[in-house]
Amino acid sequence: METLEDIKREAEQCKKCPIGGQRKNMVFLRGSFQPKVVFVGEAPGRQEDLQGVPFCGPSGNLLDEQIARIGLLPEDFTIINILKCRPTTPMHDNRIPSDDEVHNCIPFLLRQLKVLNPKIVVSVGNVAKYRLTKAGVKRHAHVMHPAATLHNRDPDMKKAFEEGFNRLKDTVEKEASK
Ligand code: URA
Repeated sequence: METLEDIKREAEQCKKCPIGGQRKNMVFLRGSFQPKVVFVGEAPGRQEDLQGVPFCGPSGNLLDEQIARIGLLPEDFTIINILKCRPTTPMHDNRIPSDDEVHNCIPFLLRQLKVLNPKIVVSVGNVAKYRLTKAGVKRHAHVMHPAATLHNRDPDMKKAFEEGFNRLKDTVEKEASK
């Protein structure tokens, strides 16, 4: 069985996509090596690229806040992304991952999930949901992407974001009682 270190070493060498040559850091994983829950985001943003850590910017603060609110402890969860490099172009600071980028990068994510073997996988945002489903990770939980609430001050948006985590809390509790 391969280890996370094996996968990380390979991802660090990977230059299949042009963004592999542009990145400051490959962004691999944050959190537990034996998680109950794995959160899957879309791709690194500016802060993540600079620090090499998933969800370490403003969106990450909102995500961490909700994860703590539903009672998950640091040893309970891990955060990874569909893409390991930041998708950016001169015209678009952050952009949605392309089909080619996902095709090249999603094998790393599937290998990470195999090693981590969590009880629950959670897509964070619709891009992650779509890509996980397409890759055959059919039964996963889902929450809104925190950036949606960052850029929209509508209280209903914040409520919808929180409700996703309330549902996730129920799912985690159901799993724990099995
Ligand atoms: N958004 C994501 O989807 N992933 C990150 O790591 C940061 C922001």
